[in-house]
Amino acid sequence: MIVILLLIAIVILLILILFQLNDTHKYLKELNEDDKTKKMKKLQKFGLISNSEVFHKLKHYRDDIKYSQAEDDLQELRAKGLLTHEEYDEKLNHLYKIKQNIKDAEELKKQTGEHDIVTYPKEYEKSWLCVCGKENNYVQINCSHCKRNQDYVLSNY
Ligand SMILES: [Zn+2]
Repeated sequence: MIVILLLIAIVILLILILFQLNDTHKYLKELNEDDKTKKMKKLQKFGLISNSEVFHKLKHYRDDIKYSQAEDDLQELRAKGLLTHEEYDEKLNHLYKIKQNIKDAEELKKQTGEHDIVTYPKEYEKSWLCVCGKENNYVQINCSHCKRNQDYVLSNY
């Protein structure tokens, strides 16, 4: 009898935990929505903006928020003495480079009309970064993700 009661109690507890997780998930989802993203989704419902437009515009918008938050975080860390001035400058520079790379990739995407482009290609000592974002070993002639040719990618984009 006690065992059965215990089992029931455990089941109830599990259900409560699941509900709690679900609520947390919902809350996190809502946190990502603000007035602007909601307005855009409304326009999408009316058919005034296409799905892919919404996707790309929202991605830009959220990226901008993300990067300005990263900048704020760096400033806060410096203010609290957790980053030296040199470290702060270095990290801020790195952040600007990431932002610039995204902008450049967008430009490249527009120029080529190839929609899977997410970055400029890069050549490292033992690997190469494809425009699709996949880092491949240098012996790999074609990208393992999009099959683009290494030579072509590194010299033509
Ligand atoms: Zn690729």
